[in-house]
Amino acid sequence: MDRPLTHHIQPDKEPLSLKNYESQGGYQAVQKAVRDFEPVDLQNHVKEAGLKGRGGAGFNTGLKWSFVPMGADAPTPKYLVANADEMEPGTFKDRLLMESNPHLFLEGIILSAYAIQAEKSYIFLRWAYHRSRKHLEKAIAEAYENNYLGENIQGSGFNLDLHIHVSAGRYICGEETALLNALEGKRANPRAKPPFPQTSGLWGKPTIVQNVETLCNVPGIVNNGISWYKDISNSEEDGGTKLYGVSGKVKNPGLWELPMGTTSREIIEEHAGGMKDGLKFRGLLPGGASTDFMVEEHLDVPLDYGSVMEIGSRLGTGTMIILDDQTCPVGMIENLEHFFAQESCGWCTPCRDGLPWTEKILHAIENGQGKMEDLDKLAHHAKWLGPGKTYCALAPGAVEPLQSGLKYFRDEFERHIKEQRCPWR
Ligand code: SF4
Repeated sequence: MDRPLTHHIQPDKEPLSLKNYESQGGYQAVQKAVRDFEPVDLQNHVKEAGLKGRGGAGFNTGLKWSFVPMGADAPTPKYLVANADEMEPGTFKDRLLMESNPHLFLEGIILSAYAIQAEKSYIFLRWAYHRSRKHLEKAIAEAYENNYLGENIQGSGFNLDLHIHVSAGRYICGEETALLNALEGKRANPRAKPPFPQTSGLWGKPTIVQNVETLCNVPGIVNNGISWYKDISNSEEDGGTKLYGVSGKVKNPGLWELPMGTTSREIIEEHAGGMKDGLKFRGLLPGGASTDFMVEEHLDVPLDYGSVMEIGSRLGTGTMIILDDQTCPVGMIENLEHFFAQESCGWCTPCRDGLPWTEKILHAIENGQGKMEDLDKLAHHAKWLGPGKTYCALAPGAVEPLQSGLKYFRDEFERHIKEQRCPWR
């Protein structure tokens, strides 16, 4: 099986030097792109390959690039920002790529910057990722020394400078416009859209913000072509492979590069080794915490963007959190809502006041003080914090586990209220 994202990763997870990366085909995509592709052709190539953003939104990457003004009259400088502020609970995929395959990530940045003709690039890095920072700094220095960064890259006339910016550490910085505000030294509140960053982003200039895993897909597409990229996927709609992760009470939690569209049953049973002895599967959040629960009947659904949406959830980051039959769903959801309430930026009232309120109700239910009418209040909150009711997607994402938890585990909520205690303590 082709594993374009991870095949350079050594068993000890130590990253390859630039020379060793080159000896395994590394940076050939940069050579090929500057030689064979006009920037707009590269945008179209990635668009046709069907690469969708791996940060959670699942938007077609090449299509996103095509909204950037091009040509001699386009505003300058343009920016390419790598969103490496990986803070979604349960998600740990970008860390592997940055720690163990930093040159692939840099190659993806260079290619993507070339496609939109960005001269400046930033890696907006999660503050806690010290090992990633160390390995990236070394890789960036090597890339400058070997003319993959800097001026006139590989004799192409294309210039690119790349800097690491270490995030101050808030979940909202994963929202692209909040990230841009933070990068400008402002409070990390989301911006009103439009204008979108593609036309007015960092310091008002055209900017693309792209997730780490997304960028790491680009070299393979350039090297091997559109048909190859589509063929290595199991999905009709979405190309490529995906880093799928599992956390929770399985025998072998971890991260695997598998064809896009692999089912959660295969991931849990074959790769994660199944549930721990004595435990049964009850449900899963497919893409970090801010997605809707999937349950037993969904285990054979291909994990691609469209198929997961059809059953009422989202693929999100593709790193699933498993709920077993002896862990309290109410307590789990309370824990998640606590996180989201804490991470609300406070800019809009429904989120700032609504999330702490949901947390308070869940806390009461979990601690034996809930009332049946609380379930209606929770459903009301899930509705009024949903899409279109708040300034950004944090609040709608926050209530996805709540609304689906009320749907699939309602008997558990009612049991807590009737027995005035948590049955799982
Ligand atoms: Fe801030 Fe929440 Fe409103 Fe987003 S939804 S702008 S995080 S208060």
